[in-house]
Order: sequence, then structure tokens, then C-alpha cells
Amino acid sequence: MSLIQEVIARVEEKDPCQPEFHQAVREVLGTLEPTVAKHPEYVKAKIYDRIVVPDRAILFRVPWVDDRGEVQINRGFRVQFNNAIGPYKGGLRFHPSVNLGIIKFLGFEQIFKNSLTTLPMGGAKGGSDFDPKGKSDAEVMRFCQAFMRELYRHIGPDTDVPAGDIGVGGREIGYLYGYYKKIVNEHTSVLTGKGMEYGGSLIRPEATGYGATYFADEMIKTRGKTLAGKIAAVSGSGNVAQYTIEKLNQLGARPITVSDSDGTVVDESCIDGDKLAFVMDLKNNRHGRIKEYAEKYNVPYYPGKSVWEVIKDQGLRVDTAFPSATQNEIDGEHALALVKNGCYLVSEGANMPSTPEAIDIYREHKVLYGPAKAANAGGVATSGLEMSQNAMRLLWSREEVDERLHGIMRAIHQSCLDAATAYGMPGDYLAGANIAGFVKVANAMVAYGIV
Ligand code: NDP
Repeated sequence: MSLIQEVIARVEEKDPCQPEFHQAVREVLGTLEPTVAKHPEYVKAKIYDRIVVPDRAILFRVPWVDDRGEVQINRGFRVQFNNAIGPYKGGLRFHPSVNLGIIKFLGFEQIFKNSLTTLPMGGAKGGSDFDPKGKSDAEVMRFCQAFMRELYRHIGPDTDVPAGDIGVGGREIGYLYGYYKKIVNEHTSVLTGKGMEYGGSLIRPEATGYGATYFADEMIKTRGKTLAGKIAAVSGSGNVAQYTIEKLNQLGARPITVSDSDGTVVDESCIDGDKLAFVMDLKNNRHGRIKEYAEKYNVPYYPGKSVWEVIKDQGLRVDTAFPSATQNEIDGEHALALVKNGCYLVSEGANMPSTPEAIDIYREHKVLYGPAKAANAGGVATSGLEMSQNAMRLLWSREEVDERLHGIMRAIHQSCLDAATAYGMPGDYLAGANIAGFVKVANAMVAYGIV
């Protein structure tokens, strides 16, 4: 058994019941074999064993009172995984599926993603099994306040700076930050994704979706093509999906799908203009279900089906795919159906949306595959730009932030290609992203000695 395989086996033995974390460790470490031979200093300092154990994992009780006056209890998590290259940074997820294993998978991936951004940020993730769906604004506010009542003691502008993720958007960040400011009595950059009135950055809401599209644009150019005219399948209808669709439209592509956890809409005449504005209003203001889109525009709706199931069942032809909902949404069969229906590019807006079997199929069929930690790094990169603006007490224009985001996505694309070539796997974006992200963190860890 190789050293890497031994580390993976130890993780599986020590952390049973954390399948998503095992999957993320296998996905990252599985591509790091070439670094073992090249870097005996990593082996000596046991970097591979150390990097899979979080610096600390905080689990806490979140008691709050609902609108009927009943006490509710949720679990809160913050996993501060690695701060070798900068303060911990990573989002908060509010979703009933949240548990320690999911937060560890997200925090682990975040280490390498943040390293790739070129900015000095460590990796962390947090959240709660609280379900914002169906809750009143007052309930969401009371929950956020109860959550921050404990979280505040573990975070700080130079310690740990959380942001949004699934179920945590502008409204939740407002409540969380408002309460932090109240109890700590400091107006400081402790959360990103803030509103424009109180320290937010222009382009932060757009950044993950725009970034995933910029990354796709770079990948497709390596084959002498552009996104213009290409049919795109997008899953989800939240923050990442909305701005992926917006940027795809700006680049002349044709996004034709949108979904939520209840079903999928297919609009082959393209989701653009007023239709995208409808999705944004439906999801961001009215907190409604995507089915309403199908009713309003009289297009097919597939209840209970994901975008990828619809592509498989209906034989829907697409050129490109932008999974932007959740982990493991594309399995091997979905990937095969994508390839059969003409898809040759996948840019991951969501975190770990493709199963290992799906990734094997992309590689086998030479699909241009932009892995999440590279393709969706635009969100955290722009969070980093929000922190910089807060520190300088400045506000950059939309154009300036977008230009920096675009530059960062180009740099990430190039460093994936460079690392893949340097370590003997030319054109392999997954290996390139993992190796480029890892080497920087590993070098810092070696420099610190045994701490
Ligand atoms: P949102 O909460 O804004 O939207 C999530 C969307 O995905 C919703 O349409 C939701 O439907 C759907 N969805 C969530 N869980 C499931 C599920 N289990 N099955 C089917 N559909 C589901 O989240 P974001 O857009 O912010 O995040 C989407 C993905 O992108 C996540 O993987 C996140 O980690 C990743 N990401 C987000 C970043 C950001 O800046 N926001 C940065 C980097 C990555 P419903 O409303 O019905 O639940």
C-alpha cells in the first residue's frame, strides 16, 4: 500500500460515518501521488497525515424560539481546518442534511480552493442543520442570532471570516453580522457577502457563478472554441445558478435548464432577460418553488427529477454542464448520459457535485472538466477582495472587482494546467488543481516546523 493509500485508510478507520469527507479525501489525496516522490520533505514532516485532520472542529447547541413560542434546538458547526496560508475562510451552510462529515468535506476542499485563489486565506466551513425553508423572517433572525451567540467567540477578522453557502444568503448574513456587531461592539470584516450599505463588495453576489463561467470560457478556448451559441444545462436556482445563467447569457451561450429540490424546468428557447429576472424574484424575494416558472412560461416541468435525470430520460442535447445545486448530484449514469447527448465541458459551480464514477467518465471521454475547487473559487476569491476593501476602507467599482475576479479565474486556470504538466499529467484539471492548491499549503506547513 502506498503512503497515500495508508493515509486514506486511516481516515476511513478513524472517522467512520463521514462518507462525504472520505470521498473528498480520496479525491484530493488520490491525485497527490506524484508529489510524494518529488517532496521527501513532505513525507518527513508527515504533511499528508497532518493535512487530513482539522486544526479544530467546534460543535455547539443552538436553542431558539419559533413563532408559536416553542423552543427549537439545532446543531451548529465550525470546522477550522487549516490556517497555514491565512486566516480561516469558508462559508456557512444552513440545510437539514448538515452534519460534521459534510462540514469536514467542505472545509477540507476549501483549504485547496483558497490556496488556488492566489490570496492569503486558510480553509474552514460551518453551518447548521437548521432548515430556513418555510420559516418566517422573524424565525430566521432569531435562529441567526442564537447561532452567532456562540460562533462569535471563535471568529475574528484575523482569525476566521465566514461567508454564505446553501441556505445562507444576504438576509442571513445581515442578521448574523448585525448580531456580531452588537455583542462585540466592533464594525469589522468578520463576515463576507455583506450588504453594500455595511461593508459588502460589488460583484460578490455574482462572483461564484460568473467565476464558474469564466473558468469554462478558459477551458473551451483550449479547444479553439467559445461559449457563444453553446447549449448549457444549469442545475439549481440559487445564488450560483442565477449568476451562472446571467454570465452565460452575456457570453452568448444558451442556458436551458433550472431546478430546485422539487423538480426541473426545461426551457429550450433559453432562460434569459425577463425570465432570469423572474427566477431571481421568485427565489430571492418570494422564496417560491421553480415549478412556477414552468407555469408562467408554459414550458415542461419534471417533478421530483434533477436536471441530470431529465437529460438522461429525455435525451436532451447539451454542449456544456454547470452543476450548481449540491454534492453528488451527477452520478456515473448521469455523466454517461451527458456524454452521449453531446456534452464535452463540465464546470462545477457546486461543491463536489460529481461522484467519483462521474469523474472517471469525464476523464475517459476527454470531457473538459473544471473541478469545483478551481471552477467555483471565484466566490471565495471575491470574498478575499471584500476583506481587502474593508481593511483599506475603500470601495472598488463593479468593473474593477469584476476585472480582478476575471484575472484570478484566468490565473487559477493557468496554474491548474501548469501544475498538471509539471507533475506529469498534462491537461488534467483535477490533478492540477489539487496539486497546485496543496503544494503552497504544504510548503507553509513545512516552514512552520511541527506545530
Ligand atoms: P442556494 O441556497 O442559493 O441555492 C441552492 C440551490 O440548489 C437551490 O435551488 C436548492 O433548491 C438546490 N439544492 C440544494 N440542495 C439540494 C438537494 N439536496 N437536491 C436538489 N437541489 C438542491 O445555494 P448556493 O447557490 O449558494 O450554493 C449552491 C452550491 O454552490 C453548493 O454546493 C455550494 O456549496 C456551492 N458554492 C456556493 C458558493 C457561494 O458563493 N454561494 C461558493 C462556492 C460554492 P431548494 O431551494 O429546493 O433547496
